[in-house]
Amino acid sequence: MDTCAICLDEIKDNHIIKTLSCNHKFHFVCFKNMVNQKNGNFFINCPLCRHMNMNCKKPTLNDKDNIRLLSHSALSQGIKCNCSTVKGTRCKNKALLLNYGKCYSHNTNILKEKHYHLMSKWLYHIFQTDYSYLSKIHLIDFGKKIIIEKFNELTGIEDILYYLYCYYNYTNQSYMDGIFIHYNLQEPPKNWVKYCVNNKVVL
Ligand SMILES: [Zn+2]
Ligand SMILES: [Zn+2]
Ligand SMILES: [Zn+2]
Repeated sequence: MDTCAICLDEIKDNHIIKTLSCNHKFHFVCFKNMVNQKNGNFFINCPLCRHMNMNCKKPTLNDKDNIRLLSHSALSQGIKCNCSTVKGTRCKNKALLLNYGKCYSHNTNILKEKHYHLMSKWLYHIFQTDYSYLSKIHLIDFGKKIIIEKFNELTGIEDILYYLYCYYNYTNQSYMDGIFIHYNLQEPPKNWVKYCVNNKVVL
């Protein structure tokens, strides 16, 4: 049985693994944590042989699982909503994928089943770029909102990139916050952006 050189635990048959382009194998979640520490970039150097990883394939054929595996909730079996109820107690609902750590009732602009395919493509694309982690967090949220708002007009992630490049060329800047105002989209919560960047996670 193989051992994961990142966490030093065994790699069991039921674990989801990541095989780097050098053929070394790790738990996908361990690989993800390493990627996050390197600014969320899949092109990391293998911790064993130092070859640069070129394998950016998604870990499973299930779009929802692929999103889950790249996000913070993969660490446990789902995390609880970070909001409080009107009575002042902690909300007991589950936090949804890419929903600022909130449940369906505390943030209603949520990804639906039909959005997962495009969202997972967008997410795995963003992790191939060399943008800063801060920009990545904004771009992931921007893509999510474009997917939800303009789903019927989109044929692939190139159509999301179109909105991004229009913004770049129009404003002549790569300052990411402004893209939400530019497209009249709600800005992501500042505390959520801060949490994701400080903890190097996608929530
Ligand atoms: Zn591991
Ligand atoms: Zn290697
Ligand atoms: Zn809630």
